Amino acid sequence: MSNKMAKKIWYSKCLENDWEIFNKQKKMFLNSPDVQKRYGNNFKDDLVFNYLANLPQMRPYLSYEEKVIETNRIALLKLDYDKKVKHVFFKDKELRDYLQDMPLADLQGIKQYIKDNGDFKSLPTLSNENKIQSDIFGLCLHIPYEKSGYSCYFQVADKLALTCEYKDEPLCFAMTDERYELLNNSNSKTKEDENDLKAFRLAINTIAYMNCFPSCVIDGVLKELKEVAYSDFNFCLEKSDKIIEIEKFKNSESGKSVTPHFRNYYFKLLKSDKFTHKKGQIIFVNATMVKGNSKTVLTDESIELKKEIINPDTEVIQNCKNEDEKIISELKTETKRLVEKYEYVAHPVKIEEMDKNNITRKIFSRNRQVTFNALARAKYHCEYNPNHEIFIRKHSDKGYTEAHHLILMEYQETFLPYSLDVEANIVSLCSNCHNQIHYGKEAEIIIKKLYNQRKKELESSELHIDLEDLLKMY
Ligand SMILES: [Zn+2]
Ligand SMILES: [Zn+2]
Repeated sequence: MSNKMAKKIWYSKCLENDWEIFNKQKKMFLNSPDVQKRYGNNFKDDLVFNYLANLPQMRPYLSYEEKVIETNRIALLKLDYDKKVKHVFFKDKELRDYLQDMPLADLQGIKQYIKDNGDFKSLPTLSNENKIQSDIFGLCLHIPYEKSGYSCYFQVADKLALTCEYKDEPLCFAMTDERYELLNNSNSKTKEDENDLKAFRLAINTIAYMNCFPSCVIDGVLKELKEVAYSDFNFCLEKSDKIIEIEKFKNSESGKSVTPHFRNYYFKLLKSDKFTHKKGQIIFVNATMVKGNSKTVLTDESIELKKEIINPDTEVIQNCKNEDEKIISELKTETKRLVEKYEYVAHPVKIEEMDKNNITRKIFSRNRQVTFNALARAKYHCEYNPNHEIFIRKHSDKGYTEAHHLILMEYQETFLPYSLDVEANIVSLCSNCHNQIHYGKEAEIIIKKLYNQRKKELESSELHIDLEDLLKMY
């Protein structure tokens, strides 16, 4: 087969039907003696848009929803005419499939994002002469080897979330907040409802995806489509490494190649001031990794959780000191629970499950075995400097080191529901270093080094803290 015969990728032509309607109407106007007499050389395309946008209101048999759909179709066309619609070309259909399956766990958050990033416009309402102020967002999704793709028009100020056109036979629907709530909670959906929901999720998740994975968004149209000028906003969309990772994981889990479903993942807008950077950024959340506890996959290195440090009261501090002393003296003579070797992958541990009663009494007890594990992991050496001299325990061949909670236990409340009594937070120190870290003038140097060694593991355990805050605790 010659190169010329090679199969060429073709893409959906979004809005093609609506442009046909527009061109037909324009031709009619240009051929109409009445219009020519009235406007002559002053004829503008806006006349056609206005005429078409007002048409639904002259049709009393249309329902309110149908009128909205028709009006918004024209509004989107006008936006496209002004080259303000975002045209997105999916590199593969799979990505579309993932995004249309992903639940909208934070719909309000993503809508807020659309509101903050859309074009601001005054829109005429159907009911009266008043104009409403709205943030609008026009989006066309082009899918390989599919005829019409998806064209979507968001309008956030009104109760309407979206009007959308999709499928080879253009199907239009409107998704109001009310309809979405109803459909999302209903067990008996029609095939059409199901398809509308899919298209709605796809549109919302595509916007989230583009913000969350900017490295997968390539500016411009595909080479094959160079001749077509779409708008000032053309993008190609690639599959993110995060999604490829999940695919691989799911495939290896089942042992065979299956298309992973994405019902356990969702996008979320960071709204809280606790995020030191990137407030207003969308992140990708994995809700399955840890049982009963969603794990946030931060997609940008610069996103950091910042919790306000809660200063412990004197009762808590005293309880913790007593516990520390108790455990250190126990450790001095214990030999039975000294394990040979211990390997560990950091993960978050929720405190409610293990220590509910103690929370209210503000005593955060320690798990002895966790402490021993941490020492074994360090091979009974000092983790500040493994060359520090240590002695061998009586009745054992293990070196004598002491366990220290890097994030001090008295600050447990700050990190709730996650436990500080986990291997990730416990370091093994020689007696000298342990005394120094609590009472020494140069404790800062030790803390700094240990923090850098443990930073990643602390984060994997949902214990987010920066060095500055950690130093303030001592
Ligand atoms: Zn200590
Ligand atoms: Zn040491």
